[in-house]
Amino acid sequence: MTNKQAFLEAQNYIPGGVDSPVRAFGSVGSDPVIIEHGEAEFLYDIEGNKYIDYVLSWGPLIFGHCDKDIENAVISAAKKGLSFGAPCLLETKLAKLVLSKFPWLSQIRFVSSGTEATMSAIRLGRGYSGKNGIIKFEGCYHGHSDSLLVKAGSGATTFGYSSSLGVPEDIVKNTHLAIYNDLNSVEECFKSGDIGVIIVEPIAGNMGLVPAKQEFLDGLRKLCDKFGAVLIFDEVMSGFRASSTGSYEFNGIEADIVTFGKVIGGGMPCAAYAGKAEIMKLISPLGGVYQAGTLSGNPVAMAAGLASLNKIYSTLNLYDELSKKAKFIIDILKTSADGAGIPLQVDMRGSMWGYFFNENPVSNYADALKSDTKMFARFHGEMLKRGIYLAPSQFETGFVCTTLSQNSLELTANAIKESFKAL
Ligand SMILES: *Cc1c(COP(=O)(O)O)cnc(C)c1O
Repeated sequence: MTNKQAFLEAQNYIPGGVDSPVRAFGSVGSDPVIIEHGEAEFLYDIEGNKYIDYVLSWGPLIFGHCDKDIENAVISAAKKGLSFGAPCLLETKLAKLVLSKFPWLSQIRFVSSGTEATMSAIRLGRGYSGKNGIIKFEGCYHGHSDSLLVKAGSGATTFGYSSSLGVPEDIVKNTHLAIYNDLNSVEECFKSGDIGVIIVEPIAGNMGLVPAKQEFLDGLRKLCDKFGAVLIFDEVMSGFRASSTGSYEFNGIEADIVTFGKVIGGGMPCAAYAGKAEIMKLISPLGGVYQAGTLSGNPVAMAAGLASLNKIYSTLNLYDELSKKAKFIIDILKTSADGAGIPLQVDMRGSMWGYFFNENPVSNYADALKSDTKMFARFHGEMLKRGIYLAPSQFETGFVCTTLSQNSLELTANAIKESFKAL
């Protein structure tokens, strides 16, 4: 079967042929390739084509596909049962490990997806502050729960509708939209007097890569303290990706609640939210904020997370090495674009890297939307033809993994140079 045939068949049974919209390659005008297997930094499609993978399951696979330590941990956990719906020791182990790296966070609750983590964190933040209003930023994506699906990034931007049908006005009326990296817009929101929560990606990765400025995050911290609001850092993407402590390494700010996902599960469905003691004690069964999950903290996901994080914390210079690879890529992108006379903006944080076909630096959603998405689509197609698998949208972040070899980097560099010449 060819990729095309398989995708056509999938479309008969699954809406759009995919279980998450951006996978459909809608914004790059080509068909997705159907994956047969992965190995290290490579993906193989059902036609036998090989790609160097810079999507890495949208972040989780920091050690590449089929990492032996994670694989073995998953297999041995699976042999003892896939899920108990009862406490197991692995949950406490993973909790202790994560919390030991974030000294200001005292407890953590595991869930199964980033969407659940942020949705629950918002509920908890509202429960704690006693106020309904939340501030979210245009272009930040926090999963697909109702109150957060307003001017969201990622797939929501890629498909040209910034918000979703089926989300009642009544629900989003409490969601105040502010502009990323713009404190005045946040102060404006606080005038409503009802703001109990700010949720932000401290290193935005879902409108393309747009790191927050230090003064901006400092300002958010101060405003929350001043007005008794809870500050949530959504580090579902940046946690364990930008550094072993996510954005903290870069900006040193202690959020009241931090959400994790992606890398924390090592490729299995696992996410979490962690918070300060006085906040976390409000969660059920201790307090009145309800949150639960049949598969939450299941042993297989916990084992994958533990293996992944243990490896992160025991690998010397992990993020330095990853940063070098990311730097190599953005440097080649930039010099090749310059050579071709095509305006390009590049940036990186740890193992995250991004590029915009844009004449000006990008510091918020409106800036990002000015990018040349047609040029991006052509570039994406040229790269895919040359065996480089990039996120199929201008509004996503690229990742590198530890197994990415010098040879693969050279191949990527050549593909980049050739692709820019072909544009
Ligand atoms: C991916 C992501 C989410 C959603 O996580 P899912 O596991 O896809 O539900 C939330 N927030 C951020 C910052 C993300 O990158």
